[in-house]
Amino acid sequence: MDLPTYEGWQKLAENFEHQTGSFVGGEYVGSISDRTYETINPATEKVTANISACDQLDVDMAVKAARDAFKSGSWSRMAPRERGVILQTLAELVSKNANELALMETINMGKPIMEARMADINLSAQCLKWYGEAIDKLTDEIIATPDNVRATITREPMGVVAAVIPWNFPLLMACWKIAPALAAGNSVIVKPSEQTPQSILKLAELAIAAGIPEGVFNVITGVGEVVGAAIGQHMDIDCLTFTGSTAVGKKFLEYSGQSNMKTVWLECGGKNPNIVMADCPNMEKAAMNAAMNVFFNQGEVCASASRLLVEESIRDEFLEKIIAIGQTRIPGDPLNPATNMGAIVDRSQFDRINGYIAIGQKEGAELVLGGDTSKVDGKGLYVNPTIFKNVKNDMTIAREEIFGPVLSAISFTDIDEAVAIANDSLYGLSAAIWTSDINIAHKTARNLEAGAVSINSYSSIDIALPFGGYKQSGIGVDKSLHAIEKYTNMKSTWLELD
Ligand code: NAD
Repeated sequence: MDLPTYEGWQKLAENFEHQTGSFVGGEYVGSISDRTYETINPATEKVTANISACDQLDVDMAVKAARDAFKSGSWSRMAPRERGVILQTLAELVSKNANELALMETINMGKPIMEARMADINLSAQCLKWYGEAIDKLTDEIIATPDNVRATITREPMGVVAAVIPWNFPLLMACWKIAPALAAGNSVIVKPSEQTPQSILKLAELAIAAGIPEGVFNVITGVGEVVGAAIGQHMDIDCLTFTGSTAVGKKFLEYSGQSNMKTVWLECGGKNPNIVMADCPNMEKAAMNAAMNVFFNQGEVCASASRLLVEESIRDEFLEKIIAIGQTRIPGDPLNPATNMGAIVDRSQFDRINGYIAIGQKEGAELVLGGDTSKVDGKGLYVNPTIFKNVKNDMTIAREEIFGPVLSAISFTDIDEAVAIANDSLYGLSAAIWTSDINIAHKTARNLEAGAVSINSYSSIDIALPFGGYKQSGIGVDKSLHAIEKYTNMKSTWLELD
């Protein structure tokens, strides 16, 4: 597909028509109350649309549509191979509409258009295709029994799965949940983040075009505290799968206990250690990875390499390399294909990041890059790439997730100290170790308390690998075949013959 020029993207953005309703039972619908809220483009701070602010009544309607569709068997009892073909068709439609979908992400959350186009949308299509291809390759189990017995362990779809999604990779985070849940035969209700409903609404529309029956894929827009809570507390939702902050993730555990004990899966925050030893085999590659993985997507990444643990003897040399790379990330209009640093999603996140930068300085960390903000053509919410050195692991900027382009560099003298610092966190999402010593690499990978560990690289994003957190980074995994298990119930069947 042709990629538009800067002028082309600008024209597409000018003429872009936002959807404003939810998507229930195969069509767009407004909220029952008629209430709306505004979405804002962070690159211009202008209102882009008034979106339906749904509440409990709208959620009831979506749950009914999803439940009716599930019970009808039109999707839940369709042969897995047929479901797989439809998911692959949906993947093709995502690819065909890639420019429009990328534009939606950029207008809604400020990410550079080429990152949206080449990462978010391509990976979303790949995810749908992968689960579509996988679902008819799975088998159930038969256990060893006496001759007169046939006992099976089978996996069945759970019913209605609700997915609550953040704004940082709107479509991709949704696909990580929707694709395995749909592949397994469930009906889904997706609650996009307030800021970023457009791409997920479009996906629901494309799902109908691909052949997913009406009512199987619903989207409910609105404010987290209202509609997210109504979903979390609903008595007829079987499973809640969430990506977002640890604080809100904990609320979903409470909601479940207060309602029907629905299964809850959580993908939450991270404060990820990236350990660079003096014998790192490729210092240039390590520096590039360290910088890219904290500045990519404006640092609004759960697996961001936000804590750099660097061996004392190479600290200054290594930091100089990262600073040099950071200086090449210059805030620009997110619609310009040349831009590599976009806008921060909204004013409150912008203030939050700047608040952390102020705290870092107050607590005695040394600012060696950035720490300030920019405007592009006199407007927009941009934070410049920021690096702190002399950070201690008990400082706020080493402990809390900033979710912005801010690197906290901490030095250490030996690997035991590095691992102790790395693990001294309430999070455990992603981690990396750079060394030429195979023994240290292997031992450290085992000792790091994180769901994903990279050796001499940072954060593999391969769809076949599970992605999930230890500790307060979450419960369960997205991606891989294991994600399908999350959206199924396990049934034992004991058949006794005469
Ligand atoms: P958030 O927790 O503020 O919101 C996530 C979702 O929850 C949104 O849809 C929001 O509307 C909803 N929500 C908010 N308050 C709610 C409430 N009281 N009850 C019910 N629902 C509510 O997160 P965010 O700011 O959108 O995203 C950033 C966070 O997401 C970061 O912490 C980041 O680490 C995390 N994240 C994690 C992963 C992962 O895979 N582990 C991936 C991406 C983002």
